[in-house]
Amino acid sequence: MSTTDNTFSRRRLLQIAGVSAVGATAVAVAGPGQWASAEAAHTIIPRSRWGFTGWQAGGPPRLDKGAITHFVVHYHGATGGGDSGAQVPRSIDREHKADPNNAGILYNFVITQRGEIFGARAYEFKSGATHGANDFSIGVQIHISGSQKPSKAALASLEWLYRHSHAAMGKKKALRITGHQDHTATACPGGPLNRWVDGRGQELYREMAKKLGSGGGSSVPPYPGASAFKVGKRHPAVKTLDQGLIRKGYTKHHDGDGYQAGTLFTRYTRANVRDFQLAQGWTGSGADGYPGPETWKRLLS
Ligand SMILES: [Zn+2]
Repeated sequence: MSTTDNTFSRRRLLQIAGVSAVGATAVAVAGPGQWASAEAAHTIIPRSRWGFTGWQAGGPPRLDKGAITHFVVHYHGATGGGDSGAQVPRSIDREHKADPNNAGILYNFVITQRGEIFGARAYEFKSGATHGANDFSIGVQIHISGSQKPSKAALASLEWLYRHSHAAMGKKKALRITGHQDHTATACPGGPLNRWVDGRGQELYREMAKKLGSGGGSSVPPYPGASAFKVGKRHPAVKTLDQGLIRKGYTKHHDGDGYQAGTLFTRYTRANVRDFQLAQGWTGSGADGYPGPETWKRLLS
């Protein structure tokens, strides 16, 4: 926990309590106790409180909590989003109901830039948001467009919801955090949110895996062999490698749009790996930008 976190959560606590100005007396007391109450201040606004008008087409299927292994992050769309309040889930619900075969709003939850968390299908009904992965995931929309940056309040709510979902569904294993595009060909959830998924999201997953003592979150995946890392070649292990680079902050080299995790090993991947190797104090062939077993282990632990 950092001082910044404390400052932020106090502001958020006041926001939720309906206090717009951060007064001197209100912030005089700092510390873990206050953090705890700020955490507690996060709350899910249920369908009954945002003007939900009911399901159509026989309603969505029930959620099988035991089958859920993934927590999938979405954006609103390439454009739009950014607004707050009950109108947000209401308009998404209206949009999704335009297809008479849809029961209604497809997400389990919607989070606004103000940090509001709206329960939609919540923990009761199966997601309809992630084609091909709805049987084993819950879908959460951050109400922004592809280029918009998620606010601090939205990300704090997202983290809280991720933790909350384990208790709410009785999970004994940490849920994998993925973006929509990890499951199907789509631009969703866009650049800024993808970077969250690949960076902070994976850190959060490890924290949860460690806390639950499961999921293998603290163990390093097996080294895939040197042949997985060739400039211009794709391999699933490159994405894992990239996530390690992003988590450790070795992302200086990129094509201009920020360094992002993917399966393609590029010259930027190599240059970032090299920076990491140099930071270990290695030289010569020890810092050639190609990850060997020791680079792999250090990057991913
Ligand atoms: Zn999506």
